[in-house]
Amino acid sequence: MTAPLLDLRGVTALYGSSQALFGVDLTVEAGQVTALMGRNGMGKTTTIRTICRLLPNRAGEVFLDGHELSGLPPHRVARMGVGLVPEGRRCFAPLTVRENLTAAARPGAWGLDRVVGLFPRLGERMAQRAGTLSGGEQQMLAIGRALMTNPRLLILDEATEGLAPTVRAEIWQAIGTLKRESGLGILLVDKSLRELSAVADSAVILDKGRSVWAGRIEELSPDLAASWLGV
Ligand code: ATP
Repeated sequence: MTAPLLDLRGVTALYGSSQALFGVDLTVEAGQVTALMGRNGMGKTTTIRTICRLLPNRAGEVFLDGHELSGLPPHRVARMGVGLVPEGRRCFAPLTVRENLTAAARPGAWGLDRVVGLFPRLGERMAQRAGTLSGGEQQMLAIGRALMTNPRLLILDEATEGLAPTVRAEIWQAIGTLKRESGLGILLVDKSLRELSAVADSAVILDKGRSVWAGRIEELSPDLAASWLGV
């Protein structure tokens, strides 16, 4: 058996003296989508920050393709193939769409043409400053920017939050296309169980900083979803 693309084992993390993660186990396989779920404040963003080394883990291990990430600075993790689409998008507002995309570029299958193929709207707005884009367009830009780094693992933190339904549908469609056509492993945080169920292969549920359930997403029964997610 080959190692998972991403493998977290018993990860714990602190903000100062306050512990936020108490033991997170999670895997993402190449070419598959893992949904990271849990109610507000249960540690989803913190888990992502720990994977990207924006927050050090105190104990446990994070492996990418069998290589331990602990101790590496965030830019090294990015260079090893972790593309993050952070909560809140964080595009560089004064830069144009083209500049946002090319600033992040690394050689590989993803370049401007392929990003525009995925999000044609970005192609129409290459010279526009990112700060003047709509929320949905900024989200597309944030995903495009992460793809331009040619990652092996793409992490999306609440990529559809705050967007209008039609734009959300466009983002979900793009995620489905990425899953079918890119071969990337994808780790997805989102509140919409229905949309997650349609695209994810597996799921991990966090409760108070611990992974309390993991399995195939179709095995997540309504009872389990109600007890862990309150839906
Ligand atoms: P949400 O769905 O609301 O984004 P989440 O599952 O992503 O929630 P986290 O943001 O990871 O949850 O928060 C996990 C815990 O860590 C919470 O108790 C939160 O208050 C705490 N926390 C998050 N960020 C910080 C910080 N910068 N400093 C201190 N505590 C923090």
